[in-house]
Amino acid sequence: TKKESRNGYRFFSNQMQIQTTRHLQLVNALRQAIALKQLTVHYQPQLDLHTKKLVGVEALLRWSHPQLGEVQPTEFIPLAESSGLIISIGSWVLEQAVQQIERWQEAGITNICVSVNLSSIQFRDPELPSLVQAILQRYHVLPQSLELELTEGVALENPEGAVSMMDALDQLGVRLSIDDFGTGYSSLSYLKKFKVYKLKVDQSFVRDISTDDEDKAIVIAIINLARSLGLKTIAEGVETPEQKAFLLTHGCDEIQGYLLSQPMASEEATAYLLANQ
Ligand code: C2E
Ligand code: CA
Ligand code: CA
Ligand code: CA
Repeated sequence: TKKESRNGYRFFSNQMQIQTTRHLQLVNALRQAIALKQLTVHYQPQLDLHTKKLVGVEALLRWSHPQLGEVQPTEFIPLAESSGLIISIGSWVLEQAVQQIERWQEAGITNICVSVNLSSIQFRDPELPSLVQAILQRYHVLPQSLELELTEGVALENPEGAVSMMDALDQLGVRLSIDDFGTGYSSLSYLKKFKVYKLKVDQSFVRDISTDDEDKAIVIAIINLARSLGLKTIAEGVETPEQKAFLLTHGCDEIQGYLLSQPMASEEATAYLLANQ
């Protein structure tokens, strides 16, 4: 009836208003989050399955707000992107990560590569290569200690621009990896043109690897594709010994996930790296 649809409409529009209010609230709070020291970078270890040694960590952003609590990156990163704040937040994360590499090297933790997630908005910023170079120089860190994680989406809008950005970053000597590999839309031909070092097998394929034949087949295919192109593979979201054993058997190079550790704050990550060298 007419009455029901009116109520239905009003309900929907109230929901939208609640959403919009929260978005506005979050964007306003995010604008000040760096200055108010509410952001931190956590680090999740990555293990080389061949040498059994820790080889890297992924830097993951955390936001703790006094009233809003812990806001998840899956909620605030898209808002940072749509508001443009991702440029300043992203360069802050890069600087934290590179400074952390320097501190670890001073503490005798060498051979740990830190990978930083790059938004496609940062990737389209022509200032990115000079920013990365300036930060590496500021902290006296060699470029091969830094890895940048991109998603397949970066090449979607402007493939030529993506190729020249990858070339510029590659020339600096930083490593590039493709995050969430297999979940995007791009064609495989870009792997040939792009200066990619590593593929990150998405955790959605890893989750049911012990039971689901299709997921098994997909993961094996990605590992073999990478190997034949001379790329490394890392599986993310590894939670069980069974998943680890499967990945080892099929020649995956590295793993990352709760089986090793949750992402840790700087001090805890330092202790973990020292204890597991
Ligand atoms: P991502 O890059 O795919 O990061 C992996 C996510 O999986 C992280 O979630 C991590 O905490 C979680 N994870 C790690 N191991 C396991 C596991 O064994 N099981 C399960 N179920 N999950 C695991 P998180 O930290 O909430 O980050 C979510 C997403 O937010 C990231 O996905 C990334 O896309 C984005 N993000 C986080 N930090 C940054 C950042 O500094 N910059 C940008 N642009 N994006 C970021
Ligand atoms: Ca990532
Ligand atoms: Ca991922
Ligand atoms: Ca299935």
